[in-house]
Amino acid sequence: MSLDKDGLEGLWDELSIVEDWMRGGLRRDRSKPDFAALAAARAAEAAAAAAAGPASAEAGSSDGSAGPRTGPRLDAMPASVPAGDRARFLATLSREAGICQACRLQAGRKKVVFGTGVESPIVLVVGEGPGAEEDAQGLPFVGPAGQLLDKMLAAIGVSREKNAYIANVVKCRPPSNRDPAPDEVKACSAWLERQIEILSPSVILCLGRTAIQALTGQAEGITKLHGRWFEYRGIPLIGTFHPSAILRDEAYKRPAWEDLKLLRDKLGDVLLP
Ligand code: URA
Repeated sequence: MSLDKDGLEGLWDELSIVEDWMRGGLRRDRSKPDFAALAAARAAEAAAAAAAGPASAEAGSSDGSAGPRTGPRLDAMPASVPAGDRARFLATLSREAGICQACRLQAGRKKVVFGTGVESPIVLVVGEGPGAEEDAQGLPFVGPAGQLLDKMLAAIGVSREKNAYIANVVKCRPPSNRDPAPDEVKACSAWLERQIEILSPSVILCLGRTAIQALTGQAEGITKLHGRWFEYRGIPLIGTFHPSAILRDEAYKRPAWEDLKLLRDKLGDVLLP
């Protein structure tokens, strides 16, 4: 059975509520971690670091004016970016990516879709690549799949406005929404790697096969890889079904919810002493 988007979002709400109700007396600790407070603490840390001064005078100067790019300026950023410098480093990286010509996808793009969210996220969400609406707006996950994604994240207290960052494996739209080719994923990988270095997220959530394969090096599909913990350079990483797949087939909704609960519990473990 397939559902339209409103029907599915309604079901998502219902499932969350029923789930919490069923688990009522069983959960060790029913209270969700206070992600808003944790994000506020991270933001305060960032503000204090910003007040202490920039880590590098290079951060704001690399605007790509030297010409088209095929990857980030490797000499321009420290390996670990202090919280207060992250917004500036991200802006620089975004400007560089905006003129990237590393692969054939640049020919068909309207806009480079770099990423969006807070610069000190507790969760980095990684999708596959922009679709038509993302390409037009220059923002990730703004179409129907994005609306469902926002709903899924909200169910565990996470949002791009408060405590998450959303990016894709490839920053330019593959024609006709086809899967990105392996050489396109490779050509784009340095941008995502550098984004992760700057953002230093507490946890990474991969949506679908392309994202989890790109960040774990695993060869299996998302049906095998979802709901298992991996690490990306020391950062806990988990995958689940892509919201587009859930919109196509309601059967993915239950396992996706189970995966999100694992993520919610991990956030509690990672962020709360
Ligand atoms: N699907 C993705 O993987 N990413 C987007 O940004 C939009 C849809």
